[in-house]
Amino acid sequence: MARDEPSGWTAASGVLEPSDLVAGYAARVQPVKGVCRNTGCRRTVELDPKALCDMGYGRIPMRKLQELWRCHRLEGCGLSFHKEPAQNPLRLGQLVGRPNVRVRLSCQGAGCKFFRVWTVEEMIAGLEKRGQGDERTDCDTLGYKMTAGCPVCKKVNWKSDIAWVNTESAGWKAQGERTFGPQGNR
Ligand SMILES: [Zn+2]
Ligand SMILES: [Zn+2]
Repeated sequence: MARDEPSGWTAASGVLEPSDLVAGYAARVQPVKGVCRNTGCRRTVELDPKALCDMGYGRIPMRKLQELWRCHRLEGCGLSFHKEPAQNPLRLGQLVGRPNVRVRLSCQGAGCKFFRVWTVEEMIAGLEKRGQGDERTDCDTLGYKMTAGCPVCKKVNWKSDIAWVNTESAGWKAQGERTFGPQGNR
């Protein structure tokens, strides 16, 4: 893994996202459950990512395996999978000490483009100061822990993501942490 992401996550798009590979589901300890909604079927499917890895399917995208579980009925299949929470979510502590990573909180107010970035260390310190969390905090929960209004549109509607710059890229080699712009050094 050239980019050295936490196990089960990929930064291919510049933002840390859950890997769709079976091995990613196994690393996140994320169950995969679906149900067929066709009348008269109601078949339920539960895939075990860890067992699938042991069988050698770790590098296969989960959605490919999900397709194989569709019902073979003349009237088609209504199988759909729902997103189950990961039992081993991405925690802030896993991102400490990486200069190429920032927590980004973006305002979700209609048409509003405001966002702000923090280093992971700043985010942890802020959570601890407000008694809202620490390095064990699940990165997915950061948006709704933010109770301050947006300075532009005044809404309280934040979405968090983890911005990740590939340190092998020409941009990082030339600019380093300045890649994140002036807000990066707030
Ligand atoms: Zn079915
Ligand atoms: Zn806003």
